[in-house]
Amino acid sequence: MNETKPIETDPGPEDGGSTGDGKLPLLEKLRGRTEGEIRRRILQAIFEQRLPAGESITEEQLAATFDVSRTVIRQAVARLAQDGILVKSPNKGTAVASPSRKEARDILFVRRLVEPEIVRLLASAPHRFGLTELRKHLAEENEARLAGQRGTLVRLTGEFHLLLAELSGNQVLLRLMTQLQTLTCLAVLLYAEHDEACPRDEHLRIVDAIAAGDGGTAAQEMLNHLTHVEKDLKLDRMTPESSFGDAMGWLRGVPDN
Ligand SMILES: [Zn+2]
Repeated sequence: MNETKPIETDPGPEDGGSTGDGKLPLLEKLRGRTEGEIRRRILQAIFEQRLPAGESITEEQLAATFDVSRTVIRQAVARLAQDGILVKSPNKGTAVASPSRKEARDILFVRRLVEPEIVRLLASAPHRFGLTELRKHLAEENEARLAGQRGTLVRLTGEFHLLLAELSGNQVLLRLMTQLQTLTCLAVLLYAEHDEACPRDEHLRIVDAIAAGDGGTAAQEMLNHLTHVEKDLKLDRMTPESSFGDAMGWLRGVPDN
Protein backbone atom coordinates (compact mmCIF):
# COMPACT_ATOMS: atom_id res chain seq x y z
CA MET A 1 0.00 0.00 0.00
CA ASN A 2 2.78 2.39 0.85
CA GLU A 3 4.88 1.41 -2.13
CA THR A 4 3.90 4.41 -4.23
CA LYS A 5 2.95 6.68 -1.37
CA PRO A 6 3.74 10.24 -2.41
CA ILE A 7 3.35 11.93 0.94
CA GLU A 8 6.66 12.61 2.61
CA THR A 9 7.35 15.98 4.09
CA ASP A 10 10.77 17.35 3.44
CA PRO A 11 10.89 21.03 2.61
CA GLY A 12 14.28 20.65 0.92
CA PRO A 13 16.33 23.56 -0.32
CA GLU A 14 14.33 26.57 -1.41
CA ASP A 15 16.58 27.24 -4.35
CA GLY A 16 16.06 24.82 -7.20
CA GLY A 17 18.95 26.17 -9.26
CA SER A 18 21.92 24.21 -10.48
CA THR A 19 24.97 23.78 -8.27
CA GLY A 20 27.18 23.61 -11.32
CA ASP A 21 28.74 20.31 -10.22
CA GLY A 22 26.41 18.16 -12.28
CA LYS A 23 24.22 17.14 -9.35
CA LEU A 24 20.58 17.99 -8.92
CA PRO A 25 20.54 20.11 -5.73
CA LEU A 26 16.92 19.41 -4.98
CA LEU A 27 17.52 15.70 -4.82
CA GLU A 28 20.41 15.81 -2.39
CA LYS A 29 20.57 14.34 1.10
CA LEU A 30 19.33 11.04 -0.26
CA ARG A 31 21.90 8.31 -0.24
CA GLY A 32 21.43 4.67 -1.04
CA ARG A 33 17.70 4.92 -1.65
CA THR A 34 15.57 2.28 -3.32
CA GLU A 35 14.06 2.56 -6.75
CA GLY A 36 10.63 3.41 -5.32
CA GLU A 37 12.02 6.11 -3.05
CA ILE A 38 13.99 7.67 -5.88
CA ARG A 39 10.91 7.69 -8.07
CA ARG A 40 8.83 9.32 -5.31
CA ARG A 41 11.50 11.94 -4.76
CA ILE A 42 11.60 12.83 -8.44
CA LEU A 43 7.80 13.12 -8.46
CA GLN A 44 7.98 15.38 -5.40
CA ALA A 45 10.51 17.58 -7.16
CA ILE A 46 8.09 17.90 -10.08
CA PHE A 47 5.19 18.60 -7.71
CA GLU A 48 7.18 21.36 -6.02
CA GLN A 49 8.04 22.78 -9.43
CA ARG A 50 11.73 22.25 -8.81
CA LEU A 51 12.11 20.04 -11.87
CA PRO A 52 10.55 21.94 -14.76
CA ALA A 53 8.91 20.48 -17.84
CA GLY A 54 11.43 19.65 -20.53
CA GLU A 55 14.41 19.61 -18.13
CA SER A 56 17.07 17.14 -19.25
CA ILE A 57 18.31 14.61 -16.75
CA THR A 58 20.91 11.92 -17.10
CA GLU A 59 21.29 8.56 -15.37
CA GLU A 60 24.83 9.54 -14.33
CA GLN A 61 23.54 12.70 -12.67
CA LEU A 62 20.84 10.81 -10.80
CA ALA A 63 23.19 7.98 -9.79
CA ALA A 64 25.63 10.54 -8.35
CA THR A 65 22.87 12.47 -6.59
CA PHE A 66 21.35 9.43 -4.94
CA ASP A 67 24.63 7.56 -4.55
CA VAL A 68 23.14 4.37 -5.93
CA SER A 69 24.00 2.09 -8.81
CA ARG A 70 23.02 2.88 -12.38
CA THR A 71 20.84 -0.25 -12.33
CA VAL A 72 18.58 1.22 -9.64
CA ILE A 73 18.41 4.54 -11.48
CA ARG A 74 17.64 2.78 -14.73
CA GLN A 75 14.67 1.03 -13.08
CA ALA A 76 13.31 4.30 -11.69
CA VAL A 77 13.75 6.08 -15.01
CA ALA A 78 12.17 3.20 -16.94
CA ARG A 79 9.09 3.25 -14.74
CA LEU A 80 8.72 7.03 -14.96
CA ALA A 81 9.18 6.84 -18.73
CA GLN A 82 6.54 4.11 -18.89
CA ASP A 83 4.13 6.47 -17.13
CA GLY A 84 4.97 9.26 -19.57
CA ILE A 85 6.52 11.44 -16.85
CA LEU A 86 10.02 11.18 -18.29
CA VAL A 87 10.51 11.10 -22.03
CA LYS A 88 13.42 9.31 -23.65
CA SER A 89 14.60 10.31 -27.07
CA PRO A 90 17.56 8.96 -29.02
CA ASN A 91 19.21 12.35 -29.55
CA LYS A 92 18.26 14.33 -26.47
CA GLY A 93 18.50 11.63 -23.81
CA THR A 94 15.97 11.69 -20.98
CA ALA A 95 13.90 14.74 -20.13
CA VAL A 96 10.95 15.62 -17.93
CA ALA A 97 7.76 15.46 -20.01
CA SER A 98 6.40 18.62 -21.53
CA PRO A 99 2.72 18.00 -22.23
CA SER A 100 1.19 19.81 -25.19
CA ARG A 101 -2.10 21.65 -24.79
CA LYS A 102 -3.92 18.75 -26.42
CA GLU A 103 -2.28 16.29 -24.01
CA ALA A 104 -3.22 18.54 -21.09
CA ARG A 105 -6.85 18.61 -22.27
CA ASP A 106 -6.82 14.81 -22.64
CA ILE A 107 -5.39 14.43 -19.13
CA LEU A 108 -8.11 16.65 -17.62
CA PHE A 109 -10.75 14.74 -19.60
CA VAL A 110 -9.66 11.46 -18.01
CA ARG A 111 -9.44 13.07 -14.57
CA ARG A 112 -13.04 14.26 -14.87
CA LEU A 113 -14.10 10.67 -15.59
CA VAL A 114 -12.11 9.13 -12.77
CA GLU A 115 -11.91 11.48 -9.79
CA PRO A 116 -15.62 12.11 -9.15
CA GLU A 117 -15.98 8.33 -8.83
CA ILE A 118 -13.08 8.14 -6.37
CA VAL A 119 -14.71 10.67 -4.02
CA ARG A 120 -18.12 9.03 -4.49
CA LEU A 121 -16.56 5.78 -3.26
CA LEU A 122 -14.88 7.47 -0.28
CA ALA A 123 -18.19 9.12 0.69
CA SER A 124 -19.82 5.69 0.91
CA ALA A 125 -17.77 4.98 4.08
CA PRO A 126 -15.81 8.12 5.05
CA HIS A 127 -14.34 6.80 8.28
CA ARG A 128 -13.33 3.45 6.89
CA PHE A 129 -11.59 5.18 3.97
CA GLY A 130 -9.59 7.53 6.18
CA LEU A 131 -11.44 10.80 6.72
CA THR A 132 -8.95 11.65 9.48
CA GLU A 133 -6.08 11.54 7.00
CA LEU A 134 -7.95 13.83 4.62
CA ARG A 135 -8.58 16.37 7.40
CA LYS A 136 -4.93 16.17 8.42
CA HIS A 137 -3.86 16.79 4.85
CA LEU A 138 -6.12 19.85 4.56
CA ALA A 139 -4.61 21.19 7.78
CA GLU A 140 -1.13 20.81 6.27
CA GLU A 141 -2.25 22.64 3.12
CA ASN A 142 -3.56 25.44 5.31
CA GLU A 143 -0.39 25.62 7.35
CA ALA A 144 1.75 25.87 4.23
CA ARG A 145 -0.56 28.58 2.84
CA LEU A 146 -0.40 30.62 6.04
CA ALA A 147 3.38 30.22 6.27
CA GLY A 148 3.77 31.31 2.64
CA GLN A 149 5.60 28.07 1.73
CA ARG A 150 4.69 28.16 -1.93
CA GLY A 151 6.59 25.06 -3.10
CA THR A 152 5.24 22.94 -0.27
CA LEU A 153 1.71 24.22 -0.87
CA VAL A 154 1.80 23.44 -4.58
CA ARG A 155 3.06 19.94 -3.81
CA LEU A 156 0.46 19.34 -1.10
CA THR A 157 -2.43 20.46 -3.28
CA GLY A 158 -1.27 17.99 -5.94
CA GLU A 159 -0.80 15.23 -3.38
CA PHE A 160 -4.35 15.75 -2.12
CA HIS A 161 -5.58 14.10 -5.30
CA LEU A 162 -3.18 11.20 -4.85
CA LEU A 163 -4.27 10.76 -1.26
CA LEU A 164 -7.88 10.36 -2.41
CA ALA A 165 -6.79 7.62 -4.81
CA GLU A 166 -4.61 6.03 -2.16
CA LEU A 167 -7.42 5.97 0.41
CA SER A 168 -9.63 4.17 -2.09
CA GLY A 169 -7.23 1.24 -1.64
CA ASN A 170 -7.10 0.68 -5.40
CA GLN A 171 -3.50 0.48 -6.60
CA VAL A 172 -4.49 0.75 -10.27
CA LEU A 173 -6.23 4.04 -9.50
CA LEU A 174 -3.28 5.27 -7.47
CA ARG A 175 -0.84 4.58 -10.28
CA LEU A 176 -3.13 6.18 -12.85
CA MET A 177 -3.68 9.24 -10.66
CA THR A 178 0.06 9.58 -9.97
CA GLN A 179 0.62 9.75 -13.71
CA LEU A 180 -2.26 12.15 -14.38
CA GLN A 181 -1.51 14.46 -11.45
CA THR A 182 2.19 14.69 -12.28
CA LEU A 183 1.47 15.55 -15.90
CA THR A 184 -1.11 18.10 -14.73
CA CYS A 185 1.58 19.75 -12.54
CA LEU A 186 3.83 20.03 -15.58
CA ALA A 187 0.99 21.49 -17.64
CA VAL A 188 0.34 24.04 -14.87
CA LEU A 189 3.97 25.10 -15.08
CA LEU A 190 3.71 25.47 -18.84
CA TYR A 191 0.31 27.06 -19.32
CA ALA A 192 -1.35 28.31 -16.14
CA GLU A 193 -1.46 31.95 -15.15
CA HIS A 194 -1.17 31.00 -11.47
CA ASP A 195 1.23 28.40 -10.17
CA GLU A 196 -1.35 26.75 -7.94
CA ALA A 197 -3.39 24.19 -9.80
CA CYS A 198 -6.03 23.91 -7.10
CA PRO A 199 -8.25 26.90 -6.25
CA ARG A 200 -8.44 27.60 -2.53
CA ASP A 201 -11.22 26.03 -0.42
CA GLU A 202 -12.36 23.59 -3.09
CA HIS A 203 -10.57 20.68 -1.45
CA LEU A 204 -12.37 21.53 1.78
CA ARG A 205 -15.75 21.42 0.03
CA ILE A 206 -14.93 17.99 -1.41
CA VAL A 207 -13.82 16.63 1.98
CA ASP A 208 -16.89 18.08 3.72
CA ALA A 209 -19.14 16.28 1.24
CA ILE A 210 -17.22 13.03 1.79
CA ALA A 211 -17.52 13.50 5.56
CA ALA A 212 -21.29 14.00 5.21
CA GLY A 213 -21.48 10.74 3.26
CA ASP A 214 -22.92 12.67 0.32
CA GLY A 215 -21.38 10.96 -2.70
CA GLY A 216 -23.40 12.97 -5.23
CA THR A 217 -22.23 16.32 -3.86
CA ALA A 218 -18.65 15.09 -3.46
CA ALA A 219 -18.59 13.97 -7.10
CA GLN A 220 -20.09 17.28 -8.26
CA GLU A 221 -17.63 19.32 -6.18
CA MET A 222 -14.75 17.34 -7.69
CA LEU A 223 -16.10 17.90 -11.18
CA ASN A 224 -16.39 21.65 -10.53
CA HIS A 225 -12.89 21.66 -9.10
CA LEU A 226 -11.38 19.95 -12.14
CA THR A 227 -13.27 22.32 -14.44
CA HIS A 228 -11.66 25.24 -12.60
CA VAL A 229 -8.22 23.60 -12.83
CA GLU A 230 -8.66 23.21 -16.58
CA LYS A 231 -9.98 26.75 -17.01
CA ASP A 232 -6.93 28.10 -15.22
CA LEU A 233 -4.68 26.26 -17.65
CA LYS A 234 -5.85 28.48 -20.53
CA LEU A 235 -5.63 25.54 -22.89
CA ASP A 236 -7.64 27.24 -25.60
CA ARG A 237 -5.07 29.97 -26.05
CA MET A 238 -3.09 30.01 -29.24
CA THR A 239 0.09 31.47 -27.78
CA PRO A 240 3.41 29.93 -28.86
CA GLU A 241 3.99 26.43 -27.52
CA SER A 242 6.71 25.78 -24.99
CA SER A 243 6.98 22.15 -26.01
CA PHE A 244 9.92 21.22 -28.17
CA GLY A 245 7.95 18.24 -29.51
CA ASP A 246 5.14 20.53 -30.62
CA ALA A 247 7.56 22.90 -32.28
CA MET A 248 9.04 19.98 -34.20
CA GLY A 249 5.53 18.82 -35.10
CA TRP A 250 4.71 22.30 -36.37
CA LEU A 251 7.88 22.29 -38.48
CA ARG A 252 6.78 19.00 -40.01
CA GLY A 253 3.40 20.52 -40.85
CA VAL A 254 1.31 18.89 -38.08
CA PRO A 255 -1.61 21.26 -37.28
CA ASP A 256 -1.66 23.04 -33.91
CA ASN A 257 -3.49 21.39 -31.01
ZN1 LIG B 1 -7.08 20.02 -6.24
